[in-house]
Amino acid sequence: MNNDILNTSIEFLKGIGPNRAKLIKSELKISTFKDLLFQFPFRYIDKTSYHKIADIHSTNSEIQIIGKISDLKEVGSGNKKRLVAKFVDNTGCIELVWFKTTKWLIDSIKLNTNYIAYGKLNSFKGNYSIAHPELELYDEAKLKKRTKLNAVYPSSELLNKRGITNKVIIGLIQELLISVNKEIKENLPKYLIEKFKLLGRRESLIIIHKPRNLIELKRAVYRLKFEEIFYLQLRLIKKNINRKEKIKGYNFKVIGNKFETFFKDYLPFELTNAQKRVLKEIRKDLGSGAQMNRLLQGDVGSGKTIVAFMSALIAIGNGYQACIMTPTEILSHQHYKKFIEVCKSLNINVKTLTGSSKAKYKKDVKESLANGSIDLLIGTHALIYDGVNFKNLGIAIIDEQHKFGVAQRSKLWHKNDLPPHVLIMTATPIPRTLAMSAYGDLDMSIINELPPGRKEINTIHQSSRERLKLIDFLKTQIDNGRQAYIVYPLIKESEKLDFKDLLDGYESFSRDFPMPKYQISIVHGKMKNEEKEYEMQRFIENKTQILVSTTVIEVGVDIPNATVMVIESAERFGLSQLHQLRGRVGRGSHQSYCFLITGYKKTKESKIRMETMVATNDGFVIAEKDLELRGPGNIMGTQQSGEMPLRITNLVSDSQLIQKIRSLVQKILDKDPKLLNENNKEILNYLKKTFGKKNIWEYIS
Ligand code: ADP
Ligand code: MG
Repeated sequence: MNNDILNTSIEFLKGIGPNRAKLIKSELKISTFKDLLFQFPFRYIDKTSYHKIADIHSTNSEIQIIGKISDLKEVGSGNKKRLVAKFVDNTGCIELVWFKTTKWLIDSIKLNTNYIAYGKLNSFKGNYSIAHPELELYDEAKLKKRTKLNAVYPSSELLNKRGITNKVIIGLIQELLISVNKEIKENLPKYLIEKFKLLGRRESLIIIHKPRNLIELKRAVYRLKFEEIFYLQLRLIKKNINRKEKIKGYNFKVIGNKFETFFKDYLPFELTNAQKRVLKEIRKDLGSGAQMNRLLQGDVGSGKTIVAFMSALIAIGNGYQACIMTPTEILSHQHYKKFIEVCKSLNINVKTLTGSSKAKYKKDVKESLANGSIDLLIGTHALIYDGVNFKNLGIAIIDEQHKFGVAQRSKLWHKNDLPPHVLIMTATPIPRTLAMSAYGDLDMSIINELPPGRKEINTIHQSSRERLKLIDFLKTQIDNGRQAYIVYPLIKESEKLDFKDLLDGYESFSRDFPMPKYQISIVHGKMKNEEKEYEMQRFIENKTQILVSTTVIEVGVDIPNATVMVIESAERFGLSQLHQLRGRVGRGSHQSYCFLITGYKKTKESKIRMETMVATNDGFVIAEKDLELRGPGNIMGTQQSGEMPLRITNLVSDSQLIQKIRSLVQKILDKDPKLLNENNKEILNYLKKTFGKKNIWEYIS
């Protein structure tokens, strides 16, 4: 508990009250003084220049005019009722419109008195208007106080309608700054402030809300970013340290005979150096006595599966169970088929369990998991949600994470008394700063090397009109014994239309590639599982040469003989998805190709995506570009806001700062793990104040 005034509800700020507080909370997620204080402007506008009405141009966005209201009347009725004012200066006339009129508003407006009107310009058939303008009585003295850097805060239509305009928010925040001024305490130690030439905390907050010039604004922003990143990284790194100290894990004393036998007699290829290094890292974790929480990143095709399997072998060799979770059933079955033979030889009982497994089979599997007779389970999410109980799950491996929500990873914990070791493998690389911020509490392994002999995939961007060329190309490849994927987008909102595209596509390819010379498989989400399985299997065995499908094959599918990936309506896919799809080819020794087929309509962003794909095969580069284009929230397919409360830091443009501060925090904690040094007292005090005395370190676990 704490009685920090900054935790006071905004309801108690002068000018707010319970109703407005409720509204502000639901619209802006602001509930305490502190939230409001840290609600930063997202831009600043110049309020020292004025437009003449005659000079207004439709390209102006916000305008500010000095003039008089010559006429005021209500027009329309019912829902359409609005208040319209004629606003004139000595060059012309413009309309001011309020869509919600109140007696108070009408009464407060004075005719033929000088006002400054400010707002967003609407132009309709050559007529200009401003809706819900800010109106301020003209006052020579006040004019001088106007600034070029006027804060603009996030807002919403509803807030504006209810009279909580930007001007009001500015007023509230200024009011707040005055009343809590003394409560804003420095939370970074002196030596950091000096070393990095940081502005003070209070000063920075005052400046960011009302900067006098750009130079001080920059310094204030830098300081506030510094603080934000510092405490986020501190929390994440400390969480990691704590887990290692507190959360005991199974100690796998030996590497075990399963691993050893596999390594000696069954390894299908020599491991790359990166694979060996990562396996060593994992091996070390598993024998440390603490629970492993490791994120394994590697580009598509870098060989994460074998690492997963060999990690599972360590657990099994030590007498524990292991599970590998995949995002799709196809992938579960693929892994299962890949490992079933070698598991037999190693005397390992492996089973698969997915959402569509038969009830009787499911029941048997669950029993055998509970009594420990199954050593390795491969399956989909169904694993977590279906109330599966392991006898002694030693390691949980989550493959191709990017469909799994961040929160889900902890669900596995509750199965046993001790939590299993957890290895999360990403589908494609995650941008570095995003990984640091969203997964900064995990240990990280990176496979930065592809298996030998891989050729760069040749990526070609083509218009849908160049179809004949494509067909010819496909025929040559198929005649040489290769196979091809044709993928259609399937997006929830227009599922029916997309589905039609897929079937039309299938038909038209069937005409171009007639039986019996050619065989085509089709796989999509509406098919029964056995059908999907059957079609996939035919493709895997090279009985069909073309696989037409939706993105069900997006992740993980591994068929080295396939050399062509054709992505239809490629403009509708995101970068990481495109890269993931392309990663289905280039898995063997043959030269592979990826065709990105797009229609006429392309946004600027989709053009950049195509160019990026053509320019590079490197998933790490693509990940950075993706982050730049889409922002962090969309990338992991999961809402990050709760996990990553960044208000002012930008993961793209501040990436160097993030890296710098992360290693700084690491160093501080290395030297002073409990932050008990006099030097660091500001940090400890701030944590105590923010999270309560008892919970300083609990809050992070
Ligand atoms: P991903 O990292 O995308 O999951 P996979 O584990 O599916 O990649 O591996 C891609 C392909 O590369 C598979 O066919 C796999 O058998 C093969 N492979 C993996 N490691 C090696 C290696 N060290 N040498 C040769 N081939 C390898
Ligand atoms: Mg994989």
